[in-house]
Amino acid sequence: MNRLVAVSTTESIFPEYRDTPIGLLLEYHNLNRPLDECTQAQLLIGMCMDNRKHLRIPDNFAFIIRAGGANLRYSEFKVSYAIAVGGVKSIALIGHNQCGMVNLIARKDQFIKGLVENAGWERERAEEHFMHFAPMFEIRNEMDFVLSEAKRLRLRYLYMIQEDLTGLGDL
Ligand SMILES: [Zn+2]
Repeated sequence: MNRLVAVSTTESIFPEYRDTPIGLLLEYHNLNRPLDECTQAQLLIGMCMDNRKHLRIPDNFAFIIRAGGANLRYSEFKVSYAIAVGGVKSIALIGHNQCGMVNLIARKDQFIKGLVENAGWERERAEEHFMHFAPMFEIRNEMDFVLSEAKRLRLRYLYMIQEDLTGLGDL
């Protein structure tokens, strides 16, 4: 089942998101809308830490929390901060294809070897570290994860407008 909707024109932005911070994000990033002057953050964006990804948005437009797989489960204080102190009213979660947080176990050996060789870790500690944290950070499937994360955040922060954005710019 294809659950992605390509946003390549203003009309393809769902009507409920037009003229909202979510709609603006899509216009800036996908549709090349000229970058406006922003004085205050309007949006919190959760996106992957992946080095291949960056957004085209104006300065001051959004708080951005970057974490592998757009997983905000361990960044909750920062989410709360952006809402409570930063005053944002919307959250956009951005997933992407070929995310490194999918099927972490396949990179177990590489992970351990890398910590040993690049950071001087003892092999055993590196292995424990991987085994302890990999289950917490594994997302299994980019789309399913971003949807479940949106559901979780909706329940936690009741008044927020949220959209699940996956596939913003293919790799
Ligand atoms: Zn990723």
